[in-house]
Amino acid sequence: MGGFGSGRHGGRETTKDRYALDIRRLRWESPLTPGTTYIILEHQTRVRQGQWESRRDMVSLDWTDCHLGGRRAWFICPLCGRRVAMLYCGHVFACRGCHDLRHESQRENEEVRAFRRADNLRRKMGWIPGIAHGFGSKPKGMHWRTFARLASQYSIHVCSALAHAEEAMARARKTLGRIGGQN
Ligand SMILES: [Zn+2]
Repeated sequence: MGGFGSGRHGGRETTKDRYALDIRRLRWESPLTPGTTYIILEHQTRVRQGQWESRRDMVSLDWTDCHLGGRRAWFICPLCGRRVAMLYCGHVFACRGCHDLRHESQRENEEVRAFRRADNLRRKMGWIPGIAHGFGSKPKGMHWRTFARLASQYSIHVCSALAHAEEAMARARKTLGRIGGQN
């Protein structure tokens, strides 16, 4: 794969890229009895392009008291031992930090930030707003060196913004594919 924007820009996966187990939903689907100390997660995993492998991971649970009474369950991340509500699929189910996942919103923010920076530079150079208008010319009275610096900063922000936008499109296509029953 590795389409436009993979690698240098926003290479890290986000929480949306992984199958997630939410302890609060788990309670709904198969109620956990307060005091249960562990659950077994059965899943299929494969390392890189290798063979699929069935795994049975034991995940410890912890319980805390709720403000409104009752008790709520938490996963204990098998890798770092932290108490978490969500575990993400990988070779093992583990927390967001252990899988080095970003929040989806963090990636969106990066896209928005890159577009905003590009816009600010356009304004500085007196170009028509909007990256669709392409490059403009050097404003009168601006040194060529300054212009070259701003223009190169501008292209970096545009590349980054487009890469994030491209990633978002790819994810949307993937979702639509799933809804349509394709792969
Ligand atoms: Zn962890």
